[in-house]
Amino acid sequence: GDRLVLDTLVANTAYLKAQQVDRDELRQQRLTLTLPKPKTSTLQEAAGKTYESLCEQQPIGQKLFQQFLMTSNPQYAAAAEFLEELSDWSLAEGEAKEKARQSILNKFFRTKSRSFLSYLTGEETNRYKNLSDENFDDVTMDQSREATRDFLMGKPFSEYLKSPFFYCFLQWKEYEKQQITDKYFYEFRPLGKGGFGEVCVVQVKHTGQMYACKKLNKKHLKKKGGERFALLEKQILEKVNSLFIVTLAYTYANKTDLCLVMDLMNGGDLKFHIYELGERGLRMERVIYYVAQITTGILHLHSMDIVYRDMKPENILLDGKGQCRLSDLGLAIELPKGKMICQKVSAGTTGYMAPEILRQEHYRTSVDWWALGCSIYEMVAARLPFKDFREKVHNGEVTRRTIEDDCKFEHKNFDAPSKSIISHFLKKRVENRLGCRGDPRNHVFFKNINFHRLEAGLVEPPWVPNSNVVYAKDMNKLMHYSKAEDIELDDKDEKFYSEFSTGAVSIPWQKEMIHSGVFDQLNDPKLNGHNCETVWK
Ligand code: ADP
Ligand code: MG
Ligand code: MG
Repeated sequence: GDRLVLDTLVANTAYLKAQQVDRDELRQQRLTLTLPKPKTSTLQEAAGKTYESLCEQQPIGQKLFQQFLMTSNPQYAAAAEFLEELSDWSLAEGEAKEKARQSILNKFFRTKSRSFLSYLTGEETNRYKNLSDENFDDVTMDQSREATRDFLMGKPFSEYLKSPFFYCFLQWKEYEKQQITDKYFYEFRPLGKGGFGEVCVVQVKHTGQMYACKKLNKKHLKKKGGERFALLEKQILEKVNSLFIVTLAYTYANKTDLCLVMDLMNGGDLKFHIYELGERGLRMERVIYYVAQITTGILHLHSMDIVYRDMKPENILLDGKGQCRLSDLGLAIELPKGKMICQKVSAGTTGYMAPEILRQEHYRTSVDWWALGCSIYEMVAARLPFKDFREKVHNGEVTRRTIEDDCKFEHKNFDAPSKSIISHFLKKRVENRLGCRGDPRNHVFFKNINFHRLEAGLVEPPWVPNSNVVYAKDMNKLMHYSKAEDIELDDKDEKFYSEFSTGAVSIPWQKEMIHSGVFDQLNDPKLNGHNCETVWK
């Protein structure tokens, strides 16, 4: 009753307040923090890594390599600046883009300029010298980007590996390996309920970063035999790196639970937005924006041979800015090239499953495009193409309709582009289906979306969540778990838990260090004075 309502209120207040981090106070608390000395194992691990991983993919690695280039010599600095300006140029639009192009041309391609890219010489690259305006096109940009990269991978990279900057990187890598326990976080209210435990808000104590923590109760997991799937979900989440798929930042275990710490998606799920807020269904502008992001997320999974298999609005979560991500990868499966799946028990949710699953045929990524077609339909019409909202109907009938019936568009909000893209995703034959045939991003439905800018997070969301609202059910609806107290845990279980609990995930953890200011606070390669030649053989 009232007691529970009050609990939710108190919990909401604590959670909303935590989001207003006092950065100076955290800075003070961190004054005693120092980076550890790298152990031999850390050196060996780094030695096995490529230029791409060390200097491009890992955010701290990229920063330190950049700092090395900027302080080593003018030529290296020019190369670093050139890459940065190229990236700004490629994301700019209209007048700003032309301005960026002129700046690049004058700064890096004029022999008289201080930052002329003098390494762009030799037979092939001679044509870069004093390029004229009209010869300076996208192809030139791409070629000179590649040439710059080749240059940096040579001498600059090998010098970097012996520099104090790289020693510093190894220290960060050592720090990254710290053991994670409950003590690393503050915990706030639950936001949702999963099959094996609650998902609650947590905050990293020394950075103030907020995350969602999905708990999987160990005993419950064992009772239901869910360990294998939990590990699969973790391994897939760890592998993906997309703005449109929830990112896993930490995995750890405590006495009772396995914990997956992920991006906090505090704007609610799309099902909630379609049915519970305001008029049912979403404005077309929002539908297009979300579907563009979802499409990019699905393409990312498919490029890694991962089939999502649970595409539906309920699994699409919004963040605080109003951008969306795919979540709940518990049904996702990795399929090596050419391999198909066929299962007696079909995976997915009624109403979103493709004809090929329902007919128990072999399938691959096609099923995600079908489910996306169903989801777009639902975002517009607040019902599914083959099942009405809250319709009491047998699964068998939904299966029959899915396989036999044509999709009808009776709702007033459908327009020509939305009808067209849905029809193309809902082609019964896989070989005719959009996504399996043709790139969905080229469909007229997306004519106003610049995917390049979208992928860089530069397209403003059409709707922004209210930062004072907690888009989650009341707490009393999220509690009460059946406890599996009769289950005993043994050594074999412990072995599995340690395989699962690998601590911080590199890229998101490094982003957190940079974003929160910890990186700038602790990082001063000149002060720490080490030279990598002494530790690096
Ligand atoms: P399960 O696989 O057990 O169904 P989910 O991953 O779907 O678990 O999570 C359960 C619920 O927790 C979701 O429906 C959602 O309400 C909430 N939730 C999950 N992940 C997040 C997140 N990253 N941010 C915010 N809420 C989340
Ligand atoms: Mg779920
Ligand atoms: Mg799941």
